[in-house]
Amino acid sequence: MAFDSAVQGELLALLGEDRAFFDPATRQLYASDETPRACPPEAVVFPTRHEQVAALVALANRRGFPLVARGAGSGNVGGALPAPGSVVVSFECMNRVLEFDPANRLMVVQPGVVTDDIDALAASAGLMYAPDPGSGAYCRIGGNLAMNAAGPRCVKYGATRDHVLGLRAVAGDGRELKVGGRTSKYATAYDLTRLLVGSEGTLALITEATLKLVPAPETVASLRVCYADNAAACAAVERVMAQPVVPCALEFMDSRSLSAIREYGGAEGLPEGTRAVLMVEADGDLDDVPHQIALLEKALAGPGLLEIQSGFAAADIKNLWTARKSLSHAVKKIAPLKINEDVVVPVARLDRLVAAIDGLGHRFALPIVSFGHAGNGNLHVNLMVHPDDPDEMARARACRDALVEAVLGLGGSLSGEHGIGSEKRRYVARELDAATLAMMRDVKRLFDPNGILNPGKKLPD
Ligand SMILES: Cc1cc2nc3c(=O)[nH]c(=O)nc-3n(C[C@H](O)[C@H](O)[C@H](O)COP(=O)(O)OP(=O)(O)OC[C@H]3O[C@@H](n4cnc5c(N)ncnc54)[C@H](O)[C@@H]3O)c2cc1C
Repeated sequence: MAFDSAVQGELLALLGEDRAFFDPATRQLYASDETPRACPPEAVVFPTRHEQVAALVALANRRGFPLVARGAGSGNVGGALPAPGSVVVSFECMNRVLEFDPANRLMVVQPGVVTDDIDALAASAGLMYAPDPGSGAYCRIGGNLAMNAAGPRCVKYGATRDHVLGLRAVAGDGRELKVGGRTSKYATAYDLTRLLVGSEGTLALITEATLKLVPAPETVASLRVCYADNAAACAAVERVMAQPVVPCALEFMDSRSLSAIREYGGAEGLPEGTRAVLMVEADGDLDDVPHQIALLEKALAGPGLLEIQSGFAAADIKNLWTARKSLSHAVKKIAPLKINEDVVVPVARLDRLVAAIDGLGHRFALPIVSFGHAGNGNLHVNLMVHPDDPDEMARARACRDALVEAVLGLGGSLSGEHGIGSEKRRYVARELDAATLAMMRDVKRLFDPNGILNPGKKLPD
């Protein structure tokens, strides 16, 4: 690695003194994401233009240092964790909306725009940017694109990948790419747009995105549905997804999740004996939503149902979602370290996944908190542990292994939305066959022959 004062000089010449930092405090600040690991980079830089990003990639290739792209650092798989000797490329200052074109239902943005701000601007013209990660108030669209982020609404509208028309990017070898376009139909090129989405900063640095917007629904109605146990809630999820009305949210919380959110006001007034809750929403026209809700209520009813609560006031709906979105942090009351898995199975096998998780909790004597996007079969499975207890940590490792086996056995996948990063790489070869992995490595080499982009992520060693 050739990171020395000459490289510092070149970075300063390229970005200016107020956009390139080498001091220990800044390096420490950018040393980790939401994973409990840290590695201070050699430098943190804040480009403001595509051309600077292209020049950075050229410099990194010439001098041989890794670049690690970063949005808000809210990822929980070590995607933005700096590699040793790397330069963190923070996109926080590339945060402009370049174009808002309601007539063509699109918005062109730089990667540092905060996700919820995109949706808020779209709403000003009666439109919506549909992907709604729980971290939307602070995560950046570049991070969402790199991870193919999703959220509750994705059960109806699809994930980030389904809402991108085109991208501008700089590949690891320095080539400047414009992929996709501005139209809702496009059949010209290989679909490099979909390839770059979800590539976790390992193939190219995204400098601009043309996002697809959809009409905002006129109204949204919510249901809080309580069940006597997980099996009853999962059976209801299966019934809902087997009928024609697609809810715009279908979220699951197990009993440990309900205990964790109590102080956020999301578990008030639950009937006695509630062990699992579904949060269900329908959106659309004012005159259609009541009809959707009636059909959803019919599908939600079944053995183990304790209560369906509807007719929430707007403030109550907001509280409910605040509580649900607080879960990621609220669970840390149970134990200081959360090992967060983000597994996904075909939705009609969710019951088997939840039963398997219950069994693993008993077998490895660990508190496991499960919640998430049930309508997609995507659960956040949190193993709560004390990192200073070696025996508990060993059991957690064995439990993770067994969870992966169970998920793959059900035809599922390691990650529904959080990605692989550094934290889940060791499991990837269990899911993907050798030919697919080899093809992925070829793609990596094609885009990034010198391996300068986010080394040690996504692909197993
Ligand atoms: C409380 C909480 C709730 C969450 N809820 C959800 C949820 O509901 N759904 C969900 O999907 N995720 C969720 N996440 C995870 C996380 O917020 C998402 O992965 C998000 O997309 C990361 O965005 P970021 O800006 O923080 O990216 P970072 O964490 O900074 O980076 C993520 C990855 O993107 C790469 N990257 C960033 N910018 C670029 C770029 N311009 N070009 C190329 N690569 C780039 C990085 O190298 C890294 O690999 C949650 C996290 C927290 C802490």
